[in-house]
Amino acid sequence: MTGLSFYDPGDLVSVLTTEPLGRALDYRAPEGGCFAGAFVEVPLGPRRVLGVVWGAGEGGYDLAKVRPVTRVLDAAPMAEAMRAFLTRAADYTLTPLPAMLRLATRAPGLADPPGPRRIYRRGWAEPDRMTEPRARVMDVLDEYGGAAFTLAELAGLAGVSTGVVKGLVKQGAVAEEEAPRDLPYPRLDPDRPGKALAEDQDAAAATLRAAVRGGRYGTTLLKGVTGSGKTEVYLEAVAECLRTGRQALVLLPEIALTSEFLTRVEERFGAMPGEWHSGVTQTERRRLWRMAGEGGVGLVVGARSALFLPFRDLGLIVVDEEHDTSYKQEDGVLYNARDMAVLRASLTDAQVILASATPCLETWANAEAGKYARLDLTSRFGTAELPEMHAIDMRAERMEAGRWIGPTLAQAVRDRLDRGEQSLLFLNRRGYAPVTICRACGHQIGCDHCDARMVEHRFLKRLVCHQCGETRPMPAACPSCGVEGRLAPVGPGVERLAEEVALRFPEARVAVLSSDLFGTARALKDKIAEIAAGGADIVIGTQLVAKGHNFPLLTLVGVIDADLGLQGSDLRAAERTFQLMRQVSGRAGRGERPGVALLQTYQPEHAVIRAILSGDEEAFWRAEAAERQAAGMPPYGRLAGIILSSPDVQTVFDFGQALARADAPLRRIGAQVFGPAPAPVARVRGRHRVRLLVKAAKGVALQPALAAWVAQLRPPANLRLAIDIDPQSFY
Ligand code: ADP
Ligand code: ZN
Repeated sequence: MTGLSFYDPGDLVSVLTTEPLGRALDYRAPEGGCFAGAFVEVPLGPRRVLGVVWGAGEGGYDLAKVRPVTRVLDAAPMAEAMRAFLTRAADYTLTPLPAMLRLATRAPGLADPPGPRRIYRRGWAEPDRMTEPRARVMDVLDEYGGAAFTLAELAGLAGVSTGVVKGLVKQGAVAEEEAPRDLPYPRLDPDRPGKALAEDQDAAAATLRAAVRGGRYGTTLLKGVTGSGKTEVYLEAVAECLRTGRQALVLLPEIALTSEFLTRVEERFGAMPGEWHSGVTQTERRRLWRMAGEGGVGLVVGARSALFLPFRDLGLIVVDEEHDTSYKQEDGVLYNARDMAVLRASLTDAQVILASATPCLETWANAEAGKYARLDLTSRFGTAELPEMHAIDMRAERMEAGRWIGPTLAQAVRDRLDRGEQSLLFLNRRGYAPVTICRACGHQIGCDHCDARMVEHRFLKRLVCHQCGETRPMPAACPSCGVEGRLAPVGPGVERLAEEVALRFPEARVAVLSSDLFGTARALKDKIAEIAAGGADIVIGTQLVAKGHNFPLLTLVGVIDADLGLQGSDLRAAERTFQLMRQVSGRAGRGERPGVALLQTYQPEHAVIRAILSGDEEAFWRAEAAERQAAGMPPYGRLAGIILSSPDVQTVFDFGQALARADAPLRRIGAQVFGPAPAPVARVRGRHRVRLLVKAAKGVALQPALAAWVAQLRPPANLRLAIDIDPQSFY
């Protein structure tokens, strides 16, 4: 670590804490001194809080009152580039810097006093008597394999008191150990032979290796259909990064972080990478966070928030499935991990690889404009071919009431069953039926707290609000007119589709993949592995299935309602539908046998449907780009969303109107304000929601103007204001 300033004992240092204070505070460097970037504990009033030494102190006040840093924590100092990254990310997203720092200090036990810690894992014995709470502890231990937990974490995950765990320790069913000092991860060997690459793969890998060796910032779009070997290729860039002695990070959507993927990395490099996602235990998180800072981990594979690990020397960030909407964090700090990856890399002379079969329009346009390099893998590896795609014109299908699979699609499924191949039926709607209507009075059952209809989940025997999660039992009588026995489901969800499938194909083994049907991410991943191994004949799924899983036996994808995403006024509706349909169709024919994708649609002439079928992607992107450009919309213009919410509807509208009137700071940069308007979902959890939209030209200083604008007015009590830069969704 070179170039870190050192502060002698008693020097004034400026410490940024994770407390919502608005600015860094001055302290005196402690006995022994400290480095810039040091993680420290400082007194704040009567408390002690976590902070980072951000730089030299400012002075200019009564120096006698400045208190000393309490202690320096046992962690590598935060690199200067990381501090710069947090500052810039905070400015970009208009997030207070302390909130940004909180994202970067999610290290369990970071502030623990030095001294031994205890960890808990599966012991050698079985419990003598299996009670229900004990069984839950044993289940957690089994579910996580050989992982180690803290006491509180294990008890928490099992939902039992710590006494239950202690009881199991006495019997040897749980082992209690002194935690070793966090150990570095095994070294990955970049020189183990990888797979022999095909010609276009090899050329792409060579370009990426050279870019990594260059040691400068650069972003490359790696575009290729699913199965073309993007992963194979970017692992070569990772290998090169490891050879240069720098660290690499591969970001994946949480759901794609499967053991299958990790095993693949292990096969390539001879050891497991560091793992960072919601299913990792606190003990392992703590270790990974520290090793990222010390350089004791070469490759981290993680979900969105891994971007905020304090890497010592990050040389490469891969964002796989870069178009995936889960990279945008939609609550708390509103950031897009893809964009922040580019920012972080630009500050540490690192390379970024954005991999996707269907990049988002922003990325496509950046490549067109020459800001990003672009590499294309044009064919699927080996014998696997892209599936044929056809529309089924639903206007010509004879549909019975309460049926959603037309005769043409049904016949195609039947053929697969006869041949022992898998079919996937895609419907992006969770639950049994999206609407429940009273046949006596016409009332549709809605949520009491939100502006949304309750969705029947027959599996749970409840109505669920997909906005706020409120649930209630299915009533026997209409809540409006009181008549019994006339409530009826309208429209299909995946559960209802499963009913139809069971009726039509009673001999088939059916699996339903919907996020709400699985208690844990792990349970879902296990199910996916089981299906991939041939554990089902017909898979019914929501958009969950669109994401990067390999189902080698799958040869048919049936899209139940290809028009679903085309409705609505969302800026990205066409793009999303296009991506989703292509991704879903990409699930077919990944093995030896070719696949077919059939799209049921009532509007086969729609431009998006035609683009999907024609396979002429560039034509779709060009048309979509031209439309956005004409409208001055992203990526050719800039947007920011302002979401106001309050329990009181009048308050929220009044404040919205006051903001809209006070638009002078925005007019100075030529930006326009639209609204206030009720948000498409006008009420969530009893809070009324109002949106304003700010539209500006590309290249203006939007964030400072926004900050000056909202700073003019003091929000009334109970009103929340959130600013969403580059909004992805408009609900
Ligand atoms: P993508 O990331 O583009 O979806 P993958 O890298 O996952 O594609 O490749 C798809 C499948 O083809 C994987 O099972 C992979 O192991 C295999 N594959 C790709 N390229 C090669 C190659 N050069 N040699 C052997 N197998 C390959
Ligand atoms: Zn609700």
